[in-house]
Amino acid sequence: MKFVYSFKDGNKEMKDLLGGKGANLAEMTTIGLPVPQGFTVTTAACNEFYNNDETLWDELKTEIFEELKKLEEITGKTFGSLDKPLLVSVRSGAKISMPGMMDTILNLGLNDEVAESLAKITENPRFVYDSYRRFIQMFSDVVMGVPKHIFEDVLTDEKSKKGYRYDTELTTDDLKKIVAEFKELYKKEIGENFPQEPREQLLNAVHAVFSSWNNDRAIMYRDINGIAHDLGTAVNVQSMVFGNMGDDCGTGVAFTRNPSTGEKKLMGEFLMNAQGEDVVAGIRTPVPIAKLNEVNPGAYDEFVNVCKTLEGHYKDMQDIEFTIENKKLYLLQTRNGKRTAQAALKIAIEMFEEGLITKDQALMRIEPKQLDQLLHPTFDKQSLENAKMIASGLAASPGAATGKIFFTAESASKNAKDNQKVILVRTETSPEDLEGMVAAEGILTSRGGRTSHAAVVARGMGKCCVCGCEDIYVDEKNLQFEVNGKVYKEGDYISIDGSTGKIYDGIVETNDASLSENFNTLMKWADDRRKLQVRTNADTPNDAANAIKFGAEGIGLCRTEHMFFEETRISAIREMIVASSKTEREVALEKLLPFQKEDFIGIFKVMKEKPVTIRLLDPPLHEFLPKDDEEIKELADNMNISYELLKNQVTSLHEFNPMLGHRGCRLAISYPEIAVMQTRAIIEAAIAVKKEEGYDVKPEIMIPLVGNITELTFIEKVVKEVADSIIKESGVELNYLYGTMIEVPRGALTSDEIAQTAEFFSFGTNDLTQMTYGFSRDDANKFINDYKVKGVFDTDPFVSIDETGVGKLMKIAVDLGRKTRPNIKLGICGEHGGDPKSIDFCNRLGLNYVSCSPFRVPIARLAAAQAVIKQEQK
Ligand code: PEP
Ligand code: MG
Repeated sequence: MKFVYSFKDGNKEMKDLLGGKGANLAEMTTIGLPVPQGFTVTTAACNEFYNNDETLWDELKTEIFEELKKLEEITGKTFGSLDKPLLVSVRSGAKISMPGMMDTILNLGLNDEVAESLAKITENPRFVYDSYRRFIQMFSDVVMGVPKHIFEDVLTDEKSKKGYRYDTELTTDDLKKIVAEFKELYKKEIGENFPQEPREQLLNAVHAVFSSWNNDRAIMYRDINGIAHDLGTAVNVQSMVFGNMGDDCGTGVAFTRNPSTGEKKLMGEFLMNAQGEDVVAGIRTPVPIAKLNEVNPGAYDEFVNVCKTLEGHYKDMQDIEFTIENKKLYLLQTRNGKRTAQAALKIAIEMFEEGLITKDQALMRIEPKQLDQLLHPTFDKQSLENAKMIASGLAASPGAATGKIFFTAESASKNAKDNQKVILVRTETSPEDLEGMVAAEGILTSRGGRTSHAAVVARGMGKCCVCGCEDIYVDEKNLQFEVNGKVYKEGDYISIDGSTGKIYDGIVETNDASLSENFNTLMKWADDRRKLQVRTNADTPNDAANAIKFGAEGIGLCRTEHMFFEETRISAIREMIVASSKTEREVALEKLLPFQKEDFIGIFKVMKEKPVTIRLLDPPLHEFLPKDDEEIKELADNMNISYELLKNQVTSLHEFNPMLGHRGCRLAISYPEIAVMQTRAIIEAAIAVKKEEGYDVKPEIMIPLVGNITELTFIEKVVKEVADSIIKESGVELNYLYGTMIEVPRGALTSDEIAQTAEFFSFGTNDLTQMTYGFSRDDANKFINDYKVKGVFDTDPFVSIDETGVGKLMKIAVDLGRKTRPNIKLGICGEHGGDPKSIDFCNRLGLNYVSCSPFRVPIARLAAAQAVIKQEQK
């Protein structure tokens, strides 16, 4: 097996093996763009490395050195030579890009002798020692694990001693001194001299990049983004070009279209006399790409052309890294650019209009989960008018956020866990800050451009971010920032607008998102393609109305027990649960009836003629019983009974495993009066709305947790008797369906019998997963993460349907159900109904609809369309 590929041997289709970066470097080489040459050590080699006790084996080393030899021939430079030394960069590059999560080493191949000689040859000793100090620092950090900041401190000390502001002010002598100090530091930390043999440097660097695939932040990033842990990373070894050789050199990053708004205009930034990491790390704030036209019009024109070529070739917005060495342009990377949802929609639609892509391709371009971002808040206009702006920075990732400021990732995430809204404020962020960024409502940095770590990561998360806000001085040591003489301390409120870059004092009220024309266009395209209907899980008229705005075509699950969570209602349902006799229960049910009826009327009015599936009561008892003595006392007073009596009753209702306890249809079998009351409420509400509004309302009565046909027929008798007599008495013609959830494995296995009675099935995949695996829904999160980290599971089965097991039960139920009742209506209402991967599965199963929470309805519409497109492509 070949483990090392020259850039000349690969192409863009080889991402699995060469990683995204390697495949695209190969592709750009093939289409004749100026790419510094090199080779890629494959992801397969990375996996082999892990199978081989994390060591590089001899055949791999030989292959690497063979490719190195070819690279020496191509470049006319030699590793370690004093006349024409070859220097390389060593970068990670996984199949799916994980920005900043893994490691990079630049200027590898430098040692004391090469540096001295190169200084003479280039007549640019400043550049050489600048490169050498960077190399020592990166190598020490990445390969040997010496913390970066030890080196940064030396650099900062030197700068402050000399009164410099920027690194570029350091002279050759300063840099030589820094190099000497860095080497001393290395020796002190590692106990050996800094390695002088370039081949040893190279193998160590490859080893380190492979190891970085499994560093903590890379694992966390993969977890958050659902990337499999066994893909491995490739390593790209590329001959160096230098952006730090003087003022006719530079380096930058650019997007072919605006990644925030989608506007068709080149957007990017660059720094003259700098190396790649300076731009991304946010150490100096870069200047906009348009300025390159003034500094170096030739390179600018060439770059604009390259952008056009790349966009036309990849038929997608590109994120490009480039370096200019002595006025000549080189491309270091291209990839499909990450973008906000707003930009993704605009770009997809405009590329279709430009004839670059088809409608189906446009639909496939949008990550369904990304649509979430469009549903993010903006500042309330009125509140904004009264707000005091204190600073402004770069609008890096849209959305509006208000919260208390915290200056470390740990304190941000700790306070967010205490249910506080948090803004993470940093000089700049680094991958170690990920946890704090995940927890924060918004992120503010004082340094770094739109392509800095903070900006890129926040955009990926759809999180509001303002970066490069140089108006503020962040004092991370004393946990405060200062702006115009005013000091903001930990816990003070600010508000930030990631769409304008403005920072405000105190709290500014936010409004929910409004949906754009592009959103509507894309949703319409999705609706034209999808086969699955999309319903919503909604328990209140308000939620239902929201879901309709997002395009819901019905209610797939109204959890009636949720209608009692409110303070004023919970005691009524508790009374019903703890009732010790039928009479007591009927008294409590009488109290519940008007609430239920009123809510159903509200829901039917909102849903008009769309189907509404109402599930009879399914309260896991532990969620509803009074929890402490105070609650018991309060309820006893309400019920006019003694504390002791109630306490006894509550104790007797205690269950060891409430999720498998007296809930669902079991409750209605013990106490049919509950089903009677609920049926009355549903049918009376439906009749009232039909009479009042004239809507042909479509109630569907659903029985939970059925495992045996006899459970369903027992309750059917109760429900139909009440429903049919109310309908008859009213003189109104009302049709309703009677069906069940399939959420108990026995129910799935006997669904041919169950379909004799049930007119519809709705898969309750939360319980079905719980009972198929025997994983408690309430406790599984304690160990599922271990499963993922240890590679036992790729995904959490409570997030995406386990197709092999739970899916098999669903398939059995679909087939058996249709055998008995060919036109049986089939849907899903577990949490999986809003998960794109599970929706794809439901489409393949041929269900009629998925049902999910209101905010996930747009995601489900798009995912359902993508499922059809994928199926057709097969
Ligand atoms: C389910 O079990 O999937 C379901 C939708 O019901 P609940 O989550 O209310 O148990
Ligand atoms: Mg359930």
